[in-house]
Amino acid sequence: MSLFVDRDLEALKAMARDVAQRELAPRSREGDETGAFPRESLRILFEAGFLGMMVPREWGGGGLGHLAHALVLEEVAKVDSSLAVLMEVHNTLHLEGLLRFGREKLKEEVIPHLLKDSWGGFALTEPQAGSDAKSIRTRAKREGDTWVLEGEKAFITGAGEAAYYIVFAQAPEGITAFHVPGNAPGLSAGAPLQKMGIRSAVTGSLYLDGVRIPDERRLAEPGEGLKMALSLLDGGRVGIGAQALGLAQAALEKSLAHAREREQFGQKIGDFQGIRFKLAEMATEIEGARALVYRAAALLDQGGRHTLESSQAKLFASKVAVRACLEAIQIHGGAGYIQDVGVERLLRDAKATEIYEGTSEIQKVIIARHLLGEA
Ligand SMILES: Cc1cc2nc3c(=O)[nH]c(=O)nc-3n(C[C@H](O)[C@H](O)[C@H](O)COP(=O)(O)OP(=O)(O)OC[C@H]3O[C@@H](n4cnc5c(N)ncnc54)[C@H](O)[C@@H]3O)c2cc1C
Repeated sequence: MSLFVDRDLEALKAMARDVAQRELAPRSREGDETGAFPRESLRILFEAGFLGMMVPREWGGGGLGHLAHALVLEEVAKVDSSLAVLMEVHNTLHLEGLLRFGREKLKEEVIPHLLKDSWGGFALTEPQAGSDAKSIRTRAKREGDTWVLEGEKAFITGAGEAAYYIVFAQAPEGITAFHVPGNAPGLSAGAPLQKMGIRSAVTGSLYLDGVRIPDERRLAEPGEGLKMALSLLDGGRVGIGAQALGLAQAALEKSLAHAREREQFGQKIGDFQGIRFKLAEMATEIEGARALVYRAAALLDQGGRHTLESSQAKLFASKVAVRACLEAIQIHGGAGYIQDVGVERLLRDAKATEIYEGTSEIQKVIIARHLLGEA
């Protein structure tokens, strides 16, 4: 049992493991091969109550916190990292954004759908504005009680598949955000991009061509949108840390199984000190990452400052995941390089955790700013 995880949370994690292994794992490989949006697996996550698990009970959600969310994400990521990122975006970026910044009438209208069967996305990045999110160019022009959105979003998870997006745009007063229905006239999605990993979490561009959004769907005060985005990403990073943790743990478990089974030179490869040292390093680094991710999640749940801890958790867990996946391939030898074995996929999926929701370099920028007392 971990320092932060009590019996109830252990039981939740065991339940998530059961759903993941029994119901999600059998569909996972097909998602990687076809890159098709995983509707059936998302239905299973909705049914299990994992999509909306942090929504307060008075709104019909699970009423759980970020630590619970991290534990479930870890189990989902172990079998299907595409689903894990879809779950993370829906829960920590979309629903959290709506709950914290949406008006009551909007919440009453959309939350029931977002808990039942409608997946929600988050559209901040643009072709010229990635790490430098304040440079977005999508425009929001006010016409009476309506805003007209014009622009292009890039690398959007679930583009063309989401029921709703939170879209960030520049109003005359500065950046703001809107809750945009996926079927809004003037909104369209580009073709899904062919990606290295997390292939069924489709990624693509969104085009906003005169999309008219009533002011009641505005989420942030004009000028406050960047602050909103950054504060949501602080929470999201803990989720990405948990996704990385699940990938690293899967790499370790597969490596242990292989080390116990595979024989060379008349003995199990797990008897070679070289292999044993790799396993020992992997397990120790994973426990370090787990402690950072759980600590950041626990801080989020306590409502305290957590930007530094969230960035440290994401930076370290994603690095550990990529390293563990590389070692897992090495431990598997030639088999590790073969798609059927399912180890090379872990590495392809893990690499994304060092990029999205703020690259590793940006996490270091944030961490250093805190260390130097500039934040
Ligand atoms: C699979 C995937 C899914 C995504 N999903 C979404 C989504 O749903 N919604 C969304 O809004 N965005 C999404 N993104 C976008 C993602 O958040 C950005 O790709 C990421 O923030 C980096 O931006 P960029 O790609 O423009 O890289 P750039 O910002 O151009 O960075 C290029 C390189 O320069 C480095 N760099 C940049 N600035 C600095 C600096 N100040 N100091 C040191 N190094 C620096 C970066 O670390 C990186 O190595 C997704 C991306 C991917 C790959």
